[in-house]
Amino acid sequence: MPIATVNPATGETLKTYDALGEEEIERRLAIADAAYRSHRTTTFAERALRMNRAADLLDEDQQDIARVMTTEMGKPIKQARAEAAKCAKAMRWYAEHAEGLLADEEPAERDVKDSGASWALVRYRPLGPVLAVMPWNFPMWQVVRFAAPALMAGNVGLLKHASNVPQTALYLEDLLRRAGFAEGCFQTLLIGSGAVERVLRDPRVKAATLTGSEPAGRSVAAIAGDEVKKTVLELGGSDPFIVMPSAELDRAAEVAVTARVQNNGQSCIAAKRFIVHTDVFDAFAERFAAGMAALKVGDPMEEETDIGPLSTEQGRAGLEELVEDAVGAGAQVLCGGERPDRPGWFYPPTVLAGITPRMRIHQEEAFGPVATLYRVADLDEAVAVANDTPFGLSSNVWTHNGVELDRFVQDLEAGGVYVNGMTASHPAFPFGGVKRSGYGRELSEHGIREFCNITTVWHGA
Ligand code: NAP
Repeated sequence: MPIATVNPATGETLKTYDALGEEEIERRLAIADAAYRSHRTTTFAERALRMNRAADLLDEDQQDIARVMTTEMGKPIKQARAEAAKCAKAMRWYAEHAEGLLADEEPAERDVKDSGASWALVRYRPLGPVLAVMPWNFPMWQVVRFAAPALMAGNVGLLKHASNVPQTALYLEDLLRRAGFAEGCFQTLLIGSGAVERVLRDPRVKAATLTGSEPAGRSVAAIAGDEVKKTVLELGGSDPFIVMPSAELDRAAEVAVTARVQNNGQSCIAAKRFIVHTDVFDAFAERFAAGMAALKVGDPMEEETDIGPLSTEQGRAGLEELVEDAVGAGAQVLCGGERPDRPGWFYPPTVLAGITPRMRIHQEEAFGPVATLYRVADLDEAVAVANDTPFGLSSNVWTHNGVELDRFVQDLEAGGVYVNGMTASHPAFPFGGVKRSGYGRELSEHGIREFCNITTVWHGA
């Protein structure tokens, strides 16, 4: 894939970049290694000062960088501004909390005594340069939710961003540099996916995090495994959105639309499979399809646009194939389903009913504004359908029944259960999945500790 900014609303190539050659990669790795040796000795207060400064600069740049993100990957401009604001918030959160989250821990006195020590503690030390392989769909948020905790913990970052968002990637390096982080603390490597192996196998790189598709995750994890390096994987999702009879239907249908189409439907934690109890199925389906059909598809730079183009031509082709496969196997189209006749990679909000397990869309992630509806007879069937997927990122449940709620929290195979609302990440809550959605966690204390050397310090009596 060429490293280039291609406007998905028009298909026009606006800027292309040469990939870094071997010599430059080597130079950058040496800088990262040197930067780590010095950055790891800085205090939390020094790091926090820089991180807060980065947040302030990002707030100042919000309008401009939002336009860059929208130009590169097509998200509606208001959502691009919200993404930049969310990144500034996460930076401030880690600036404020990192020291407390990584403070030395003292084991219980009786355990210290039992081990024969006079004292002991657990210290969270940094690991070194961490490689971050990131996707285009939230081109700033995915990076910041890695970079903010990593830098606050004393690590340094090497970003291999998706090839279609180079300007956002370069902006992030520049932002952190302007904020006062020393050269090499956070570098953007303009490289293709083929060069990831070379970087990851380098002994100066200590760990890797990847957010993206399952094939990319499998490839990076295999190399890291061969090198015995720690990885965190945040992969795809096909989250269930379960509606039970006690739900407030109007509200559930309204939130369902947002949960499906946020970010033009290209979010790992978008609700993708709508599993509805038969008693309320028809009423929900009617409201949901009407809400989807009413959305404004158009120029993502316009304030009133709800859905812009898909980010890449291949992405739209893949989504179309999933819809055609389902319709060919008997799915009913409640709205959408036909690409519009216009330039750019647009696809309309689409709702499919009558999904069966043999349809590809039942098992694969629909990365675009396409929702699938399932009718279920009872709680058991709702849980069974929800779990009948290779993925396990998050889940949404709509009920006011305590027994149902307990069952969902107990049995849904996912890294999150969001009740009477939609999945959304927050710096204070862990984020990540199970099954083929990956492993490890980002955000919260769990995220910042993923790339720490958790060190036991034991002192004899
Ligand atoms: P992708 O094709 O896997 O790309 C993600 C990143 O991996 C890009 O930087 C890409 O580089 C790189 N890459 C691709 N193949 C690779 C390989 N074999 N070895 C090393 N690096 C490789 O995914 P995407 O299409 O950009 O993103 C969509 C996917 O990400 C969806 O499945 C979505 O659900 C998932 N996602 C998950 C989360 C989460 O938190 N769980 C969040 C957002 C997105 P190039 O661009 O150069 O190919």
